[in-house]
Amino acid sequence: MRIGPLSLYAFFFLVPLAFSDICTQPTTAHKLLMGQIKQDGASPMTFEKSQTIAVIGAGMAGATCARALQLAGHSVHVFDKSRGPGGRLATRRVEWIDRQGLSNTTRFDHGAIGISARSEAFREFVDRCVHEKRLAMWEPTLAAGSLPLDDGDRFYVPVPAMPSLCRHLLDGASVTFSYAVDALHKSPLGWQVEAAGERHPLIFDSVVLALPPAQIAPLLGSHRHDWAEQAAVTNMQSCWTLMGITEGPESVLSWAIARPPTGPLAWVMRNDARPGVERTPGSAQWVIHAQAAWSCQHLEQPAAWVEQQLQAALGEWLRRPVNWLHSVVHRWRYALPPVTSATASDSCWWDASMNLGVCGDFLGGAGIDAVEGVERAWLSAQALCAALLQRAANMGDEDKASTTHETGHDRVA
Ligand SMILES: Cc1cc2nc3c(=O)[nH]c(=O)nc-3n(C[C@H](O)[C@H](O)[C@H](O)COP(=O)(O)OP(=O)(O)OC[C@H]3O[C@@H](n4cnc5c(N)ncnc54)[C@H](O)[C@@H]3O)c2cc1C
Repeated sequence: MRIGPLSLYAFFFLVPLAFSDICTQPTTAHKLLMGQIKQDGASPMTFEKSQTIAVIGAGMAGATCARALQLAGHSVHVFDKSRGPGGRLATRRVEWIDRQGLSNTTRFDHGAIGISARSEAFREFVDRCVHEKRLAMWEPTLAAGSLPLDDGDRFYVPVPAMPSLCRHLLDGASVTFSYAVDALHKSPLGWQVEAAGERHPLIFDSVVLALPPAQIAPLLGSHRHDWAEQAAVTNMQSCWTLMGITEGPESVLSWAIARPPTGPLAWVMRNDARPGVERTPGSAQWVIHAQAAWSCQHLEQPAAWVEQQLQAALGEWLRRPVNWLHSVVHRWRYALPPVTSATASDSCWWDASMNLGVCGDFLGGAGIDAVEGVERAWLSAQALCAALLQRAANMGDEDKASTTHETGHDRVA
C-alpha cells in the first residue's frame, strides 16, 4: 500500500468530515470512510491508482475538492470561466477619479460578507485557517435599529482579499482560468471538456462540477438528465449589490454593519471597516446588498436605475443626503442558495458508474438550513470527495484483485 505524506495529510483534512455533526445524514461514503479508518488505523486514504480529475469551478466548493483530491495523490486540473479563483468569495478592484481629477483604486469585497462556521468539521478548518493567518476574525459593530446578526456577531474574512482562501486551496494545482466550459464529452477513453466549440486536449477519469445549479444544468443534460432537471428548477436567490465611496459626516465610523428591518436593503456594510482595509479620512467605502425579493423583482432593470434606487435607500437609512464620489452596481444572478430546496437532502451528487460528481452551496445535506453558503459549499465538496476517494480506493482494490488473479501474487489485505 502507498502511504505517502500526502495521504496522511488527506487523513487530517478529511477525517473531521466523518465526525461532522452538521452532516446529520452520514453518506455511505462517510460510513465507508469511517470503516476504513478503523481498518487501516492512521491512514484512511490509501490508493493504488491515481486518477485524473477535472474540477470545473474554482470557488469554495471547487477549490476545496481540488485540494482534497490532490492531497490524496490524484492529478487534478481546475477550469474556471473567471480570470481568477474565489467565485462568490469576491473582491472587485474599482478605478475612479476624485474631485481633484486624481485616479484612485478601491477594492470592494462585494460577494460573501464573511464566513461563519456551524459544524464541528468546518470550525476546525476555520480555526486552522485563522492560525495560519489566512482568515481574520471580524466582529463588526452593528448599527442601532438593525436586525441582529445570526452568528454571534462574528465573521471570518479571508485576508488579504476574499479570493485568497481559494487561491491558497489551489496552491500547486494546475488551473486554467478564463475557460467557460460549455460541454462535457464522455468516451471510452474518459471525459473531455469543451469551451467555445473546442475540446480541451486533456482526458480525465472523472469530472466534478462545482458551479451554481443554473450553470450545471446545461452541462449535465445528455449525461444525467435527472440531475440536470433538478438543477434547473433550483432557484438561487439573486442580489443586486452597490459599491461606492462617499464623502461627508458618515466617514466617521460608529458602526460597520447595518441590517435594516424594512426597505430594499438587506446588508449595509462599511467596506473600510473590514480587517486589513485602510481607511481614508473624510471618505467612506460602502458595500450594500439589496434584499433577495427586491433584487429578484428588479433583476432585469438597467444598472443605472438600480444604482439610483440603492443610493437613495442608503440616504433613507442614514436619514441624510449622501455625497457620492463614485459608485457601481453588480448583479449576482445566483447569489445565495434557495431558502428551501428540492435537493436540500443531498450533500452532493456522485455517479460512480460515470465518474461524474456535483457539489456546491445549493446542495449541502439535510439539517443544513441554518448553515451559510460558504460552509455549505465546503461541506458539499467534502462529501463529494469522500465518495470519489472511496470509489478510487475501490478501483485500486479491483485492479489489485485482477492483478492477483493474473499473476498469482498475494494481495495486501
Ligand atoms: C452578495 C453575496 C453575499 C453573500 N454573503 C455570504 C455570507 O455572508 N456568508 C456565507 O457563508 N455566504 C455568503 N454568500 C454565499 C457564498 O458566497 C457562496 O455560497 C459560496 O461562495 C459558493 O461557493 P461555490 O463554490 O459553491 O460557488 P461559486 O463561488 O459561485 O463558484 C463557482 C465558480 O464556477 C465558475 N463557473 C461558473 N460557470 C462556469 C463554467 N461554465 N465554466 C467554468 N467555470 C464556471 C465561476 O466563475 C465560479 O468561480 C454570499 C454570496 C453573495 C453573492
